[in-house]
Amino acid sequence: MLISQRSCNLLFSLILAAVSGSRSLTTEGPQHFTGPSPSTCDNMTLRSIKRILPAQHPHWVGDGFRVFPVFANMAFSEELSPFLMFDYAAPKTFPSNKRQPLGVGQHPHRGFETVTLAFKGEVEHADSTGETDIIRPGDVQWMTAGRGIIHQEFHSKEFSKRGGIFEMCQLWVNLPKKNKMTKPRYQPIVDKKIPIVKLPLGSDKEEDSGYVRVIAGSLGNTPGVAKTFSPVELWDVILPEKSEDIDLPFPPDYNCIIFVRNGGIDVISEEGKAQSVGPQAVALMQRESGEVLRLRSTVKDTKVLIMGGRPLEEPIANMGPFVMNTQKELMQAQKDYHSGKLGR
Ligand code: MN
Repeated sequence: MLISQRSCNLLFSLILAAVSGSRSLTTEGPQHFTGPSPSTCDNMTLRSIKRILPAQHPHWVGDGFRVFPVFANMAFSEELSPFLMFDYAAPKTFPSNKRQPLGVGQHPHRGFETVTLAFKGEVEHADSTGETDIIRPGDVQWMTAGRGIIHQEFHSKEFSKRGGIFEMCQLWVNLPKKNKMTKPRYQPIVDKKIPIVKLPLGSDKEEDSGYVRVIAGSLGNTPGVAKTFSPVELWDVILPEKSEDIDLPFPPDYNCIIFVRNGGIDVISEEGKAQSVGPQAVALMQRESGEVLRLRSTVKDTKVLIMGGRPLEEPIANMGPFVMNTQKELMQAQKDYHSGKLGR
């Protein structure tokens, strides 16, 4: 399928911008863009879907989070790397609660990062490094557990008392082997610090035709705000109306996961085939199959998370709240936790 000359030029310049290093602003360590360098527009192809994961059944995490395990049985697989796990707490009304706030009490993590996006309601966090924080609608908490953190996650006191609709998600992002035992790091990212890119790309339309909140990675010339240990993209895409086709450049060598938080989209393939992805389903995209994601919203009030990154290509060993490279390291994590060494 040919991309129109105008959008071709734009996408080409955005891909070049990505190559020329805007990524290195937000990511530690050396950066290499290993995708093909398109010299003409003919090289730009649309990325295709590898498989669609259907919406999942929910379960409770503690007594505060009714979550859908979005990655289902693909969680902790190399096919999603560096993403590991994704719990989505779909909008749910909690009545006013004057007792102890609902949530999850103290528990440890080691070897990865937890990324919490609040959409509605508030999460109150406290951890073993002394951080306390309230994650409010639009905010993102990017917490690097590294060698060890012990934390608790509850509805905020104020939200508990007031009650209301609660919607959030938590993603687990793996750490490269060399960073698994890094010092814990806490990035509280408030809503107003997250850069916004209007859609379609390059437009300066004032009407509400949609936008992307660039949480991590970069979209075109706009770098995201989160610091990451390996190249990671995390975009919150808001499409208030049914839309035309939207083209988004995405590094072809990265894994790419599209989650429909609300509404519905069509993903358009190189052959022009439109595949529908419904609410709470995931389109896992084929690697190395194209430089451009083409999608359109098929209903009003569509919200999509686009995420991915360069696969770490290292062994994944996971057990409960620990994600390491070997069973031996998991045993060590458990030992350190039980002897009080983890998080100290
Ligand atoms: Mn946790």
